[in-house]
Amino acid sequence: MVNPNKVTERLFQSPSKYIQGPYAIHNAAKYLSKLGNSPLLICDEIVWNIAGQSLVTALESAQFKVHRAVFGGEASQEEIGRLSVLGKDKHSDFVIALGGGKTIDTAKSVADGLALQVAVIPTTASTDAPCSALSVLYRPSGEFHCYTFFDKNPTIVLVDTTVVSRAPPRFLAAGMGDAIATNVEARRCTNSTNFGGGLQTEVSSAICQKCEEILFKYGKQAYEANKAHAVTPALEAVVEANTLLSGLGFESGGLAAAHAIHNGMTAIEELHTLLHGEKVAFGTICQLVLDGVPTSELDRYIEFMLSVDLPVNFEQLGIPNVKDEKLREVAELACAEGETIWNLDRVINVDFVFGAIKAADAAGRDYIRRTGWKKD
Ligand SMILES: [Zn+2]
Repeated sequence: MVNPNKVTERLFQSPSKYIQGPYAIHNAAKYLSKLGNSPLLICDEIVWNIAGQSLVTALESAQFKVHRAVFGGEASQEEIGRLSVLGKDKHSDFVIALGGGKTIDTAKSVADGLALQVAVIPTTASTDAPCSALSVLYRPSGEFHCYTFFDKNPTIVLVDTTVVSRAPPRFLAAGMGDAIATNVEARRCTNSTNFGGGLQTEVSSAICQKCEEILFKYGKQAYEANKAHAVTPALEAVVEANTLLSGLGFESGGLAAAHAIHNGMTAIEELHTLLHGEKVAFGTICQLVLDGVPTSELDRYIEFMLSVDLPVNFEQLGIPNVKDEKLREVAELACAEGETIWNLDRVINVDFVFGAIKAADAAGRDYIRRTGWKKD
């Protein structure tokens, strides 16, 4: 519900330090030494080979005692419990999250449970998870479970853009799908409380707008640079938009329909292979439809999404024959009590959301037909 407690304070929260640049991992010890010297490093096998070893080498040469914990793959209560026991047994004095969104959300929960600080080192710019004081938890089966909230944001977020540039471009595009939702959602949440429990500050809305501006300006160029594994000013700008601006923007701005519809979409099993931001991109089109924006504006977003291969209709999502009853289920979940859709400053019900999902698919198809767009 929109501000049920009639909160009047404005609130903005963020990590203490954000560092981004090529080969930044090599300088990790300089920043992490403020947190302790015996970290629990949470990362999966793939990430270990990509960045884990070089991070540990950098830390061990600075006398850190690193204990490595292998992340199992799902940000679930079960996995958090298992890793917390490890951290306790090893007497870890802080936690490092190295990897993608699910690793990060799990590590933030582990650190919170153990009352330790957490340093987040994302290896892709695929979500806005790194900077926030909340985690999205899933059931072991992959369905959305809940949001959990922490007292503080990660102490340090360190992004090595050389590592990010080597990740498949699909991850950067998904991060853009997540980040393009930020301003669309936050600008309709001006009367509701954000994730910190306060109203938007001027700087939160400025951040959301800047995030969107960068994506429209550099999104396509950064996507192409990523295909060439090149760190360029455009790539740096988009990595910052996806990670810092989207993260600060959604947390202190607020989420609305795009993320609520994403959460509902996790009930469709065929979509489990898609990345968070790919579903959020489609959810953003749904919200723009709900918002009643002019066709010219809707086109601008669809054009942007297509330019970085984000899905704009059911076919591109991989569910060309999805049934109405399934979409109604998505709409019902998106309208569940406590969902962020209730932050929207307009009347919402399941019928409207169901209609918006159908119309978003139709708008995506119409754009492609009208413009003759073809995947290059
Ligand atoms: Zn998101």
